[in-house]
Order: sequence, then C-alpha cells, then structure tokens
Amino acid sequence: MQETLRVRTRRPQEVVDLTREVAAAVSRAAISEGICTVFVRHATAAIVINENADPGFRLDLVAALDKLFPEGVWEHDKVDDNGAAHLKAAMLGPSEAVPVRDGRLLLGTWQGIALVECDGPREREIVIDVRP
Ligand code: ZN
Repeated sequence: MQETLRVRTRRPQEVVDLTREVAAAVSRAAISEGICTVFVRHATAAIVINENADPGFRLDLVAALDKLFPEGVWEHDKVDDNGAAHLKAAMLGPSEAVPVRDGRLLLGTWQGIALVECDGPREREIVIDVRP
C-alpha cells in the first residue's frame, strides 16, 4: 500500500515530526509483518529517524547542519542559490525504512520519523510505502 503525505513547512529550516502520520498509514495497510519506507520526493529535504521526545534535538540538528554547510560558497549557488540546502539533504538522504511487526512500526522508545526541511518554507510530498 502506498500513500502520499503533503506537509507544508513553515520555516527556511526545520524538523517536522511525521511519526504519528506514518504509524496511521501502517495501521491502514493492515499487514502483520513487513517494511515501511518513507521517502521525500525533493532534493532539498530529507527523512531521518532519531530522537523524538526532546524538541531541543530538532534545533540541534538544524544548527549542526548550518555549521557543516555554510551558505553561499558552493558551485550550485551560481545556478539557484541553495547549494547548502542540497548538501544537507544529500548527507541525510531522502528515505528511511522501518520494520513492521504485529502491525506496528518497530521503532525504539526514543525514535521518531521526521522530515528535515532544508530550503523552506515549501509544500513537501512524502511517499509512505508499506508492504509485506
Ligand atoms: Zn538547487
């Protein structure tokens, strides 16, 4: 089963928790065991699995990406001025896969699934693919 989730981001950079939406899609798929892939269809956004409970982590991730990738010094900036955003997204990657067991995402206690916006605000399209 596949679903498309559309998320409107609100800031130039932010981390948006998707765990509840993905878990709901897994419930609707009604499979016992399998795999859930979450994939963002954009070159300046990423999907990560990490700390879910502390909102400070989301700020840390944005701050760390800014330290790694300064603005305005990349070849791609000559084309459309968002070279840093592409590099951040490329390093994190566009997808994550989570095992499904007993009809639920097999995430650890402190793990959540999140969209990382690197060049917002924009509308982002995320594909959730659940299969046995
Ligand atoms: Zn670009």
